[in-house]
Amino acid sequence: MKKIAVFTSGGDAPGMNACVRAAVRSAIYNGVEVVGIIRGYKGMIEGDFQPLSSHSVSNIIQKGGTILKSARCEEFKTKEGRAKAYDQLVKNGIEGLIAIGGDGSFTGADLFLKDFDIPTIGCPGTIDNDLYGTDYTIGFDTAVNTALDAIDKIRDTADSHDRVFMIEVMGRNSGYIAVQSGIGGGAELVMIPEYQTTSEEVIHALSKGKENKKASSIVVVAEGKVAGRVHDIAKDVKEALPHFDIRVSTLGHIQRGGKPSALDRILASRMGVAAAEALLNGRKNEMVGIIDDKIVFTPFSDAISKSKPLNDDLVKMVNVLSI
Ligand code: ADP
Repeated sequence: MKKIAVFTSGGDAPGMNACVRAAVRSAIYNGVEVVGIIRGYKGMIEGDFQPLSSHSVSNIIQKGGTILKSARCEEFKTKEGRAKAYDQLVKNGIEGLIAIGGDGSFTGADLFLKDFDIPTIGCPGTIDNDLYGTDYTIGFDTAVNTALDAIDKIRDTADSHDRVFMIEVMGRNSGYIAVQSGIGGGAELVMIPEYQTTSEEVIHALSKGKENKKASSIVVVAEGKVAGRVHDIAKDVKEALPHFDIRVSTLGHIQRGGKPSALDRILASRMGVAAAEALLNGRKNEMVGIIDDKIVFTPFSDAISKSKPLNDDLVKMVNVLSI
């Protein structure tokens, strides 16, 4: 392989730049030319390619977002769209790809290889930590820390006013961000898509807190299956416990931005290096992961389709620690 391309795709995540940097430098170290594709599959179809040197990726390891930009591209979901992308790669002499993204991006890469035999190695870049085949995804740790910082600040005001705050965090259909930020933020209750919590359970937990003389209570709510329901639940609680002052706060996109944490920079760097080496060694259609601190590879088909269960111990711990 003489020339490869790197791109970021789908939802952005802090640490994607560290991963781009590592993949580019690792490929160049191994004597291979690298180009960056701007805006993921959209840029691939349009031929928006940029040669990358080791210098092009200087001073980006600490930056959030992605210097290669990201986009969603419906056209790539069609065979015609993928044929256009393939033509652009051939025209530019690109023989392999490193995709940094989530399950959608890997679904696209899997189909691309089946249609046109272009090898791809994926690096899991998503704050949701919802990909099978790795303990953690790039961006998750930073997102948890951002959520935690916001929860701490909300706790200050909740405590001053004896309020209950229901705080909605991101995570799509996964409760990882909610559980981790709930434990770290000392939440009284965490509501996640993996377990359907009823309004009655919320009311019970908050009443218990009041009996135990808690001045403030924090309920962390994951988006996903409970999305939009947080206001309904807050309404139910207000009706059952009219003496409680309940507020709802949605943290939103702040969780996707910001400087990547040390953990994310190191995770992303390890994955970027491993992805380039794997591609050059002839591996294809696999996602790089780190399990028990070791680099592992999982076929895209498994990374996309198999579910990654939450650690039950963590879920139980929320209840134990909130008495
Ligand atoms: P993520 O990679 O973060 O899960 P998306 O689900 O938006 O984000 O996917 C990113 C891009 O991957 C899409 O815009 C599309 O170009 C491509 N993609 C997603 N699903 C498919 C699919 N079924 N077939 C082909 N391409 C896909």
